[in-house]
Amino acid sequence: MEGCIFCKIIKGEIPSFKVYEDEMVYAFADINPITDGHTLIIPKTHAENLWEISENNIAAIHRASIKIAQAIRAVLGPVGIAALQLNGKAVNQVVMHYHLHLIPKAADGSKLKMTEWELVPGDMDKIKDIGEQIAAAI
Ligand code: AMP
Ligand code: ZN
Repeated sequence: MEGCIFCKIIKGEIPSFKVYEDEMVYAFADINPITDGHTLIIPKTHAENLWEISENNIAAIHRASIKIAQAIRAVLGPVGIAALQLNGKAVNQVVMHYHLHLIPKAADGSKLKMTEWELVPGDMDKIKDIGEQIAAAI
């Protein structure tokens, strides 16, 4: 798509540190890494978000994520990897081309802030009601 920086990366018009590529996906190092090894996996066909992407592309991204996570483990030996994916400017999606973040957590005891939310029990009636509404809409 015109003006999309990730489409430009796929076409080689903007440089990137490639980690993996196949027919359907491209993966590269995030240049503002939250941690060492922070990697982005994107579909080669432009789709903005989870509401737009095809099932085949999302499957290809997650297939690639297994390979890349294994390689990250082999190279960096993290204690965990957060897989993060944002949809919409309101939740801080900055690049409007679907991307899955793989963010390794190092074994050095450092924090991965976005994985540390407080568990607060919700209103069970409300949880049930919203769950039923979503289920009915599928
Ligand atoms: P998000 O908030 O999920 O849209 O995150 C977009 C991510 O893309 C950020 O982590 C940026 O650091 C990353 N990013 C933006 N431009 C580039 C680029 N040219 N090469 C690599 N990563 C990029
Ligand atoms: Zn794009």
